[in-house]
Amino acid sequence: MKGTILGIEKNLEETILNFLKGGLEKGCFDAVITPHRVPSGDSFAYLLINDKSILEGAFPLSPVIPVQGAKAISSLTRKGNASKKILVIMHPCEIRATIELLKLKQVSLGNLFLMSFDCPGVIPLSDYIEDPGKNDQISQDNYQNWEDISIRPICKICTEFSSGPADLHIGLLGADTGKMFLIPLTSEGERIMKAMDLKIEDSLDRWEREVEKLKKEREAKRYEAHEVLKSNVEGSQKLLETFSQCINCHNCMRVCPVCYCRQCYFDSDAFKLPPENFINRAKKKGSLRLPADTLLFHLGRMSHMILSCVTCGTCEDACPMSIPVSQVFSLVADRTQRLFNYKPGSSKEEPLPVVIYKEEELHDVEKPYSEIYAKRGEKNA
Ligand code: SF4
Ligand code: SF4
Ligand code: SF4
Repeated sequence: MKGTILGIEKNLEETILNFLKGGLEKGCFDAVITPHRVPSGDSFAYLLINDKSILEGAFPLSPVIPVQGAKAISSLTRKGNASKKILVIMHPCEIRATIELLKLKQVSLGNLFLMSFDCPGVIPLSDYIEDPGKNDQISQDNYQNWEDISIRPICKICTEFSSGPADLHIGLLGADTGKMFLIPLTSEGERIMKAMDLKIEDSLDRWEREVEKLKKEREAKRYEAHEVLKSNVEGSQKLLETFSQCINCHNCMRVCPVCYCRQCYFDSDAFKLPPENFINRAKKKGSLRLPADTLLFHLGRMSHMILSCVTCGTCEDACPMSIPVSQVFSLVADRTQRLFNYKPGSSKEEPLPVVIYKEEELHDVEKPYSEIYAKRGEKNA
């Protein structure tokens, strides 16, 4: 695999912005989608930018993910392909969610080029808002030292922090100080780099080695974290306790990029029951918590979208009650996705398991996880 080693000018962010401006000037793309600081200064929003002077204030390496990028792409292309060429720069988990939405026919990627970067993780939204200036600095430092003290719990155990199904990728791991790798991952990525007079001839061996090394470390951490989580949430009683503070606001569902149902059953009239239903249930149990069926909502959401969950952490960031939603979902997602040998968002070509599902597969799922993994010689995560 080959790429180009680029010198980092003043700082990483500025080098990326100069690349984006260069691409606009040379007509490689007509517009860019990238996070931009909001006027209040304490958050970021995706902007579709035509005017390169507006790129000055953009933050392609946004330290937080207030809106999952796949949602931004979906809002733009739900009704069809973009008529102009647009380059979109996003964290790897946002790109993977976009690919899931492509398979679910909720985004169109014609004329869109995706660019990712080695991601050291983002800061919890609630922490960031407390002190944006300090957290901007922490985030910039994270791109140098890859420390994971201040990043979200889900980022600390993220194993898909590097290149995925993008057209272009910025490699930072293994690069010398003051350098970065620009890596074409598709023919479109190559075309853009060639149009920008970048020679694709530098070795990426060091980047590949460092990515592999960190991946192994993260896999071990993820396994350990899931073991702890299992002991805290497994079983209906513990799961009830985990979600006992839930205020039923449905924020986690609204911000989730792959909660794809156009009409959520839990928001629909079908889920609105007559008073007698609640009164009878309260009679049987002695009392009934209202609003009712909170855990049912989480289990229902999980069963709908867990195969596509890219463990991006957006739901957890949006939870006003600090419930570890994405951590719980990551535990269930890993188990379920492994059963179907499916890695959401890793390839446009890999079909969704629900599309190619065969009835006889269910017999395997009926067995305890431990038995299935033992048969495959894998650890029971
Ligand atoms: S989940 Fe992974 S890709 Fe997404 S922000 Fe965290 S570390 Fe980056
Ligand atoms: S459930 Fe949470 S972690 Fe999974 S894709 Fe949705 S927002 Fe991301
Ligand atoms: S965002 Fe938090 S409080 Fe709101 S429904 Fe989801 S888990 Fe419950």
